[in-house]
Amino acid sequence: MVAGGEVKGNIYYLNEYAAKRLNLKIEKKIKGKELVGLKYISPFDGLSGIKKALGKYEHEVVATDEKILPVSEEEGTGLVHVAPGAGSEDYKLGKKLDLPVIELVDEEAAYISDLGEFSGKNAKKHPEIILDYLKENPEYLFDIVPYTHRYPACWRCKTELVWRVVDEWYIAMEPLREPLKKVTQKINWLPKFGLKREIDWLDNMHDWLISKKRYWGLALPIWECSQCGHFEVIGSKDELREKALEGWEKFDGNSPHRPWVDEVKIKCEKCGKKMQRIPDVGNPWLDAGIVPFSTVSTDNKSEPLYWKDKGEWEKWYPADFITESFPGQFKNWFYSLLAMSTVLENSEPFKTVLGFATLLGEDGRPMHKSWGNSIEFNEGADKIGVDVMRWMYVRQDPSLNLLFGYKVADETRR
Ligand SMILES: [Zn+2]
Ligand SMILES: [Zn+2]
Repeated sequence: MVAGGEVKGNIYYLNEYAAKRLNLKIEKKIKGKELVGLKYISPFDGLSGIKKALGKYEHEVVATDEKILPVSEEEGTGLVHVAPGAGSEDYKLGKKLDLPVIELVDEEAAYISDLGEFSGKNAKKHPEIILDYLKENPEYLFDIVPYTHRYPACWRCKTELVWRVVDEWYIAMEPLREPLKKVTQKINWLPKFGLKREIDWLDNMHDWLISKKRYWGLALPIWECSQCGHFEVIGSKDELREKALEGWEKFDGNSPHRPWVDEVKIKCEKCGKKMQRIPDVGNPWLDAGIVPFSTVSTDNKSEPLYWKDKGEWEKWYPADFITESFPGQFKNWFYSLLAMSTVLENSEPFKTVLGFATLLGEDGRPMHKSWGNSIEFNEGADKIGVDVMRWMYVRQDPSLNLLFGYKVADETRR
């Protein structure tokens, strides 16, 4: 229920509880849905960056989706403002309702360009600049009061976080879904249920998120034109050398990582302007998945046989056997191997895979020092005896979790 009432000559529509809390004189009550569709203006609409981001869109009262953004009557101002560029629930609701996303801050939480007096100032260090702006534009300001609320922080170092929208890079997987499933079926999966788990993953997979906002790591070989947005994926060092406009001499002789690889600029074939490598690094599973092609060489370090001598390479491909603990791998290593081999050769990267379960404490929980169920290897070997330990491992059914501890060891010894 929404209440409408007059203060200082203005009529406000607020959640009823908030209106009572603020001691407003309530003129009438209406249902929230009666407001849906009303247009409104916002204090920041004059900034050129906002105008550009909004385009033809006009601010409008929307109905929430309780599953995405539940609205509570007990707290807040009685008005919920949805900012799809500034919070995950807002972003999800914005996606559903097709609302424009306004990018506001950079990696340092400084306001980006085209935001008038805000540009270049830090949103986290100077939250007061928003309040100052509203004080200068009092037609948008009702009141300023201190308010305690939850705020997200880094779980590791407790630094307060600022939410921002970023672009990420994906590989479109839909065209690969059926070819990947065919290749997967050619493999001997041990245990047998591995096949079903992998097919389940492939049936439900979305596009593959391959970028990470980090400095160190696999530098994605994607060059982008800041002028027209055209991008190009570079396939080799030779291709990069041929296309290099500048910076090759700074890169040459170094590994293809930051900062050296970023020195190389190439020419945009659409508009002729300079293209720069994107700052993102790649998901490590890209590296893990390309192993059958990238690392098989005559001496494990020179040019891959896949390029140098494909006939010789074929003798080593597919691998007869791979093994890895399976929790997680159906969507990580097994998946990335399958994806790369399906794209490059449309064949299976390995003939047989033995996936094994994991090791837990004998109480069935993961081992943690704080839970008292973890056993340090040397201490375990001394107390249990290495032959008993070996027997515990070799008789284990690899499809089941191995429960490890002194009681289980005593039973094994008998
Ligand atoms: Zn941190
Ligand atoms: Zn261009």
